Amino acid sequence: MEKKKSTIKKVAPQAPKGMRDLMGEDFYNYLGFFEKSAEIAEYYGFKPIETPILEDTDLFTSGVGEGTDIVEKEMFSLKTKGGDSLTLRPEGTAPVMRAYIEHGMQSMPQPVMLYYYGPMFRHEKPQRGRLREMRQFGLEILGTEKSIADAIIIKTAMTALEEAGLKNLSVQINSIGDKSCRGAYKRDLVSYYKKHINEVCKDCKQRIKTNPLRLLDCKDPKCQATKEKVPQAVSYLCDPCKQHFKEVLEYLEILGIEYTINNNLVRGLDYYTRTVFEIISKPEARKDEEKKTMEENTEEGEVKEIGLTVCGGGRYDYLAKSLGNKKDVPAVGLAIGVDRVTMSKGFESTMPRIIKKPKFYFIQLGFSAKLKSLSIIEVLRKAKIGVMHSLSKDSLSAQLAIAEKMKIPYAIILGQREVMDGTVIVRNMDNRSQEEIKVEKLGDYIKKLK
Ligand code: ATP
Ligand code: MG
Repeated sequence: MEKKKSTIKKVAPQAPKGMRDLMGEDFYNYLGFFEKSAEIAEYYGFKPIETPILEDTDLFTSGVGEGTDIVEKEMFSLKTKGGDSLTLRPEGTAPVMRAYIEHGMQSMPQPVMLYYYGPMFRHEKPQRGRLREMRQFGLEILGTEKSIADAIIIKTAMTALEEAGLKNLSVQINSIGDKSCRGAYKRDLVSYYKKHINEVCKDCKQRIKTNPLRLLDCKDPKCQATKEKVPQAVSYLCDPCKQHFKEVLEYLEILGIEYTINNNLVRGLDYYTRTVFEIISKPEARKDEEKKTMEENTEEGEVKEIGLTVCGGGRYDYLAKSLGNKKDVPAVGLAIGVDRVTMSKGFESTMPRIIKKPKFYFIQLGFSAKLKSLSIIEVLRKAKIGVMHSLSKDSLSAQLAIAEKMKIPYAIILGQREVMDGTVIVRNMDNRSQEEIKVEKLGDYIKKLK
């Protein structure tokens, strides 16, 4: 029987919505930022950790908290063949705390300082600066409640962002207290919102009952006016919380880090206590066309006023217990949104270490030179000299043009005559002076040029 032709039209395959391929310059931007930030983090005493991309779903429901945006709407979860529920990690803090508990890091000298880098997954509506697969660089200091830990992580992140060229950075900071003082604040917040119940969105009406702190996280334009006049969290702080917050601010002042106390800042995760903060790349610091895209975007309305949030973090003294640990582990952490960093005004790419900018460009002219070219490149490779070339090109001008475009300082030229003489010409691309060198002396000669 003749096979029927399929009538289903084949669509070219595409990356999933909100996810993308990283290639070329983009790839180097991300890797370069990670390497530089890791170097800074190591300098401040952080050590690397890499946790699995998948975790038990419970880790996030009990860690990040039910009723948060992440857990309620944004998790990518799957059932395994064995019937377990796993989730693509939406953030790195709960996994790091899980690892800290699992590996008994409580018995190591405290605090334990860790940094990580990698993709996080959130089922969000994709738009500029908001992806479903995004990349974060994170820092955590576990096992201390000292205010200097809060200051160290803010300072480390600010240094990483400044070294990446970001200008006009500002820290928005708040303290949401602890168990002993947060109750009174929440009560007053609820009664304030009850008075304004007709002015807020449907979600906020629900949040009043389920998760009042989250009211301040609402991005619905309808709720912004109500949000502005809420009771101030800092005026409810108990003495130890007040002292802690005062010290954190003192550190920031001494470090010359610009900050604004933002009453509306609570952040989207349940586990925060005391210090919460975000680092903003202010709008005037961003490219005009980017600003425009942001402003056109109603959901990113707040960007218009306050800027692009490139980093968020805070203290999470009760997370360990909510994950089932017997004791509280006071800790503080943050995550930098690397996608947003690379699109911020001023961003300067740091070349990753895998890229060695070559000092030499090898040029060959004529077939006999082409034949010999691979053995010359081998001489250079053995002498550990990085060299670029385009062996498939023929003309001198085409090859010189590439060397010039890439600002490579020296060209090594091999023509018919040089092949016969067993030499090459080494040309200084800046002053155009050149010298003829015997091939066997090439490695030594070039080393002296470095
Ligand atoms: P937002 O309020 O913008 O949703 P968030 O509070 O959910 O941010 P965090 O969980 O604090 O974000 O994550 C830390 C940082 O990661 C953010 O400050 C941001 O720079 C970045 N980030 C968060 N969600 C995304 C996303 N969907 N796409 C790209 N970057 C993101
Ligand atoms: Mg979010």
